[in-house]
Amino acid sequence: MNQPRAILTPKGERWFRSGHHWIFKDDVFSVDKAENGAITALYNRQKTFLGWAFYSRFSRITFRIITSKPQIIDQDYWHLTLQKAMDGRKEFMDRNQACRIVFSEADGIPGLIADWYAGHLVIQTLIPGIDSILSQLNDLFHELLHPNSILIRNDLEARKAEHLSQEVRILSGQVPENIRIQEGPIQYWVNPMEGQKTGAYLDQRENRLHLGSYAQSQGRILDCFCYAGGFALHLAPKAEEVIAVDDSTWALNWGRKNADLNGCSNILFQKKNTFDYLKEADEQGQRFDLIILDPPPFAKKKSDVPAALRGYQELNRRALRCLNPGGILNTYSCSYNITEPIFLELLSHSVQKAGVRAHLLEKRMQAGDHPVLLNFPESLYLKGLIVQLA
Ligand code: SAH
Repeated sequence: MNQPRAILTPKGERWFRSGHHWIFKDDVFSVDKAENGAITALYNRQKTFLGWAFYSRFSRITFRIITSKPQIIDQDYWHLTLQKAMDGRKEFMDRNQACRIVFSEADGIPGLIADWYAGHLVIQTLIPGIDSILSQLNDLFHELLHPNSILIRNDLEARKAEHLSQEVRILSGQVPENIRIQEGPIQYWVNPMEGQKTGAYLDQRENRLHLGSYAQSQGRILDCFCYAGGFALHLAPKAEEVIAVDDSTWALNWGRKNADLNGCSNILFQKKNTFDYLKEADEQGQRFDLIILDPPPFAKKKSDVPAALRGYQELNRRALRCLNPGGILNTYSCSYNITEPIFLELLSHSVQKAGVRAHLLEKRMQAGDHPVLLNFPESLYLKGLIVQLA
C-alpha cells in the first residue's frame, strides 16, 4: 500500500477526538510515505483508523484534519463540502454583494479562504495540502459558482512557515481593477489585486451595518483604522462629520473614492498613526459622539500578548477620554490570543485609567459568513464591545 499514513501519540489522538483541526509536531508518533501536502490517513498506536488530514512537513502544525469519516477524499467529497459551505451563504452570493464562502477549518477545508466579490472569486491557500488540490478546487469553483474570474492572493505571512512562495496570480478569467460591492445602503469599491487581505474586511460587514442604528451616529464621529472607509461610509449619511484615520495612503485614497461613490462629502480622511492621533486629540480636548477602534491584530502569537495589551489599553483609554457625555465607543480586537474575557478586562482597566464611568451595551463578533466552530476555538477571532459613557 502506498497510502501515506501516520500514527498519532495518545495526546495527538485526544486532540483529534476533540474535533480540533490541528495536530502539532510533538503529537505525531510517526509519518510514513507522505509527501509534503499529501492527504494522509491517521491512526492511533493501536492501528485504529482515526481520519484524514493534510500533511505539512515544515510547519509546527504537522496535520490539518479534513474529516474523521473513512470515506475517500476525492472530487465528490470536495464538491459536497463546498456545496455545504455555499448553502449557508446564498443570500450574499449575487453579482452585487460580497461574502466569505470558505473560512478554512470552520468550513471543513483547512487552509483555504475563498471570498466572493460580486461574481469574482479571490482565494488564499495557506498550506501545501490545498496547493496540491488547487486544480480540483478550480474546477469545482467553476462548476458550482460560475465566477467571472478567480484570483489567488497568496501574498501572506502564513505561507512562510510552510516554505511556500509568495504570489499573486490570476487562475482564470479577467480580474477587474475595481469591483463595486453593495453593502446594505452603501456601496464600496474593492481592488482585489492590491487591497489588504483579499480586498476588503468582510468580517466587519454586520458590525458596520449595525452601528448606524445608534443615536450617537448622528453627531461627530471618529473612525480609527478606517481602511477604505468601512464604518465611515455607513455612518456619514446621518453624521455631522466623520474623521477617518489610517496610516495607509493607499487605503485612504481608496476611501476617498468610496466616499465619492456614495456622495459623502462629510468624511475627512486623515493619514496618521492612530496612537498619535488619539494622543493629540485627547490633549487638545477634542470630543466625539461615537468612536470606532478597529486595529490590526496586535497579538499574532501568545508571546505578543503583554505588548498587545498595552497597545489596546492605550488606544481605548485615549478614545474613552475623547468621548462626549453619553458618547459611544465601539472597540474591536481581531487577535485570537486576546479572548473576550481578556478584552473585557482590559477595557474595564481602560475605563478606570481614563477616569470615566461606562456601561457595556453589547458584545459583537465576526460576521456569520466567518463561522465559529466550537471544537476549534481559533475560528473565533474578532471580538467587539460597544460601551457608552454613563
Ligand atoms: N475598519 C476597517 C478595517 C480595518 S483593518 C473596515 O471595516 O474596512 C485595520 C487598518 O488599520 C488597516 O487599514 C491598516 O492600514 C490600518 N493601520 C494599521 N496600523 C495602523 C496605525 N498604527 N495607525 C493607523 N492605521 C493603522
